Amino acid sequence: MKRLEQMYEGKAKILYHTDDPDLAIQYFKDDASAFNGIKKGSIVDKGIVNNHISSAIFKFLEANGAPTHFVDRPSDREMVVKKLEIIPIEVVLRNVVAGSLAKRTGLPEGQELKQPILEFYYKSDPLGDPMINEYHIAEFGWATDDEVALLKSQGFKINELMVEFFKKRGIRLVDFKLEFGRHKGEVLLGDEISPDGCRLWDWETGEKMDKDRFRFNLGNVEEKYQEVYQLICGDPG
Ligand code: UDP
Repeated sequence: MKRLEQMYEGKAKILYHTDDPDLAIQYFKDDASAFNGIKKGSIVDKGIVNNHISSAIFKFLEANGAPTHFVDRPSDREMVVKKLEIIPIEVVLRNVVAGSLAKRTGLPEGQELKQPILEFYYKSDPLGDPMINEYHIAEFGWATDDEVALLKSQGFKINELMVEFFKKRGIRLVDFKLEFGRHKGEVLLGDEISPDGCRLWDWETGEKMDKDRFRFNLGNVEEKYQEVYQLICGDPG
């Protein structure tokens, strides 16, 4: 597999063409951003940690019936993926009140939800990813009704699988964001799943182990990312 010219550079990753027209390489950077790009910085070795965590989770999801774009992880910072036509919708799953849900409802952060909540946001940096619903998606043609049904069923299924996955490793999965895309007529989970796009709390202490440490200058950012990495990818002994 040969890495060819750059397709796209995002905030945390660079996407490259390869000599296979159906495949791309995602290169994971250490760059970090928050609050729609207002806060910028970098987290040492984040690219390596996120690539390994993401690859492990994609393999786990694939094995449990949730198709993803993951193909291979040929190096520490590279992931071979199926090329996707991205659906411009961010799917957020929540199990515990935090972040924008706490702000919107006034409910205390940490309150357990009776059942998971799924939300849609329109993927648009200039607009700051506004929240949308199924009527907006249909009206503006961002996805078909069948695709929306799939985003919901896959979203809840992935949430259920991931809650268990993290629980076994002593981590509470509070909320997270998913992105999907089309590949040869199939809808696949894309992007990455890492502490950049998930809220992960230590099951015992409640300590934050995710990008909120960077967002709110809580310190020990690298240490907590490494801890998640060890809990997911480390040698279980
Ligand atoms: N999230 C993300 N990218 C975004 C928006 C949200 O990865 O552009 C993730 C975020 O890390 C959290 C979940 O989605 O795990 C829910 O985020 P929320 O709506 O609370 O927004 P926030 O307050 O984090 O911006």
